[in-house]
Amino acid sequence: MGEFDLIKRYFNRPAKRSPLGVGDDCALLAPAPGMQLAVSCDMLVEGRHFLSTVDPFRLGHKALAVNLSDLAACGAKPLAFTLALALPRVDETWLDGFSRGLFALAEAHGCDLVGGDTTQGPLNICITVFGEVPAGQALLRSGAKPGDDLYVSGTPGDARLALEVFRGGLSLPADVFEHVRGRMEQPTPRVALGQALRGIATSAVDVSDGLLGDLGHILRQSGAGVRIDTAIAMNLIAPHAQLARVAGHFSSEKQLEFVLAGGDDYELVFTAPPASRAAVQAAAQGSSTAVTRIGVIEAEPGVRLVDAAGQLLHRHYASFDHFA
Ligand code: ADP
Ligand code: MG
Repeated sequence: MGEFDLIKRYFNRPAKRSPLGVGDDCALLAPAPGMQLAVSCDMLVEGRHFLSTVDPFRLGHKALAVNLSDLAACGAKPLAFTLALALPRVDETWLDGFSRGLFALAEAHGCDLVGGDTTQGPLNICITVFGEVPAGQALLRSGAKPGDDLYVSGTPGDARLALEVFRGGLSLPADVFEHVRGRMEQPTPRVALGQALRGIATSAVDVSDGLLGDLGHILRQSGAGVRIDTAIAMNLIAPHAQLARVAGHFSSEKQLEFVLAGGDDYELVFTAPPASRAAVQAAAQGSSTAVTRIGVIEAEPGVRLVDAAGQLLHRHYASFDHFA
């Protein structure tokens, strides 16, 4: 199969919301009047971001999910995306699974695949996503203020727990492993929550490199610090993963580390003033996404981890860095 047949068969679907999709020199997008375009790009490299054995359907999902997660962190609504793909060979079974996983998530978010590029080479998937957000209302990393509450969505730590099993560092009961593996291989981008937080959250970021690492971007860009209640934070990991810990599969220190420094979570970390607590809960309910208040922004720079009694913990967690 040649390049153009491959594109036609697997990646050319009619654009539903964009004036022009795959097939011309450019695609055309039509953001609504008064909206700004939100643009983000994420690359997935085999062996670096995913295991070569991963189910292609799940990989198609994840490649788009990590990009939609960036739109979510800005409070933007997905419009369209492009796909640049390097493939070692034409493997139709792989292409079929990958494209089905990709389009299943794309359709769930009304996000058109409008173009891309296809070449032979080591497996590499690069998606650029386009969203729209009312002018001036994008959620930024720079708006956190001392006194703001710190929140996180969902169950951070699950993906890192699955990775630990893949690395041979621990073993889990089969049902727990299947659950956390699904969270690692098919993360849920918090797109509805991000949009619901517009006008409420003072800052937001999505968690790809670890909760504390990505929160660090908010703190630096907002010129602030944070106090985190680790007794609340450590229990964010999925409830049946907590049961696995209680059954002795891993320690509470590991559990806290997975939550605070795991990575690959694609949850949202955000801040909002205490006066907005009811509005945050309404946004969470309206988007069917759990959010938990885990700390408070402080004027003094740095991260202070405290236990249930308010005592400072002296722990340091490194954030994921591709070149470190
Ligand atoms: P050009 O040479 O103008 O860059 P190409 O021949 O590379 O165009 O691609 C032909 C058309 O197919 C273009 O509209 C391009 O956007 C689209 N396309 C190429 N690869 C992909 C892909 N992997 N997914 C979606 N669209 C693609
Ligand atoms: Mg091209």
